[in-house]
Amino acid sequence: MTHDSNATLAARARAVMPGGVSHDLRFRAPHPIYFARAKGAEKWDVEGKRYIDFKLGAASQILGHAHPEVAEAVSRQMFEMPYTGDCHPLEIEWAEWLCRLFPSAERVRFTGSGTESTMLALRLGRAQSGRDKVLRIDGHFHGWHDLLLKGSKPGANTPPSLGIPQAIADLTVVAPPDVEAIAGILAEDPRIGTVFVEVSGANYGSVPLPDGFLPAIRALTEDMGHVLVFDEVITGLRWSPGGRQARDGVVPDLTTLAKIVTGGLPGGAVVGKAEIMELLSPANQRDGLAPPVSHKGTFNAAPMVAAGAVKAMEILSTGEVQAHADEMAARLRDGFNKVFARHGIGALAYGDSSTCHLYFGGTSIEGLDAATIRRTPPVLVKGLRDALLDRGVDFMSFTSCVTGLPHTPDLIDEAVAIFDDAIAALIRD
Ligand code: PMP
Repeated sequence: MTHDSNATLAARARAVMPGGVSHDLRFRAPHPIYFARAKGAEKWDVEGKRYIDFKLGAASQILGHAHPEVAEAVSRQMFEMPYTGDCHPLEIEWAEWLCRLFPSAERVRFTGSGTESTMLALRLGRAQSGRDKVLRIDGHFHGWHDLLLKGSKPGANTPPSLGIPQAIADLTVVAPPDVEAIAGILAEDPRIGTVFVEVSGANYGSVPLPDGFLPAIRALTEDMGHVLVFDEVITGLRWSPGGRQARDGVVPDLTTLAKIVTGGLPGGAVVGKAEIMELLSPANQRDGLAPPVSHKGTFNAAPMVAAGAVKAMEILSTGEVQAHADEMAARLRDGFNKVFARHGIGALAYGDSSTCHLYFGGTSIEGLDAATIRRTPPVLVKGLRDALLDRGVDFMSFTSCVTGLPHTPDLIDEAVAIFDDAIAALIRD
């Protein structure tokens, strides 16, 4: 156990890591918090301070930190055979789970992350359709790679990063979540062959999709011959054991997965229709070596990950964990809304499944676009985040929370009381 303070560690980190961090969103001024231990829905920083966690590993740890059965399965595998770069039985068991759980899963290909899953799904969409352009919805997030970053910042029709070639950005068309508008765009641009949707709506549901959007986009893309990809990196095994597609009964051509699907360990998967997925098979080629669509990746389906993932699939397949997490998120939303009402603040806590998002522009998000919903003043965002961290509560992405198995009614009520105190302090200042 280190005895360094957060400030001391930050100084060391800044000397060797840009901004002292490994991910844009881990940056914090004057310095990030460095964590040393996590168990269930709680975690402790290097100074021994405890936090109630509503980030849960960027929504990957729905079973809570260090779930004993998952930890045990991974440790055992680490001694047995962590990783050799070969085929192994656990990857088959894992793929069979995904085929049972996800309606769109006739075949599975494992990847190294959610970002890699969306890259591969787009390559498959392009190969299947024979068309290079992709349509994606304003504000939805599909990982950090070049191909789909344009449109991830709501209302901005440019990639939120230097270093992305214009020629690549030009292949991405950004549309509002409006099926009529999308039908018009697809009809006018025959070079579009693939359509991506984050099925929670932008940013794990902080901008929900309009009612009926998913069945309508399914029908449209089917009629017009586009490959439809559902990004279920967040929703897979959270919205239901079979993701949003199983809950809502809408089946895409391809689905991208990561986070919970890997038992909260590094990795990801693309699942989908056999007709498209079989483009990845070298078996049908004369030399048996090069498939029509190439895909590699050193750590795809690594046994040490597969062991934890299979254990997680077993636990999560009944839906009980998801039902509990949903209940805890509803309790959290209700608690936050009561705090807003008590302080006379015109704000809203809302969210689907086991999420809770905050909107500070009024008491309803009905009919608002992604840019408006996400436009919380940065001063307020930072103020609230700092006030909560000071008091021992950590949110995901500043104004959002996810819940999981280890959140109890007592922990939720404790977090709501801390939120109340933080809001009271912000009003006072
Ligand atoms: N798609 C969605 C919907 C996501 O939320 C994320 C990550 N938060 C990704 C893709 C990228 O996944 P990863 O961080 O594993 O690359």
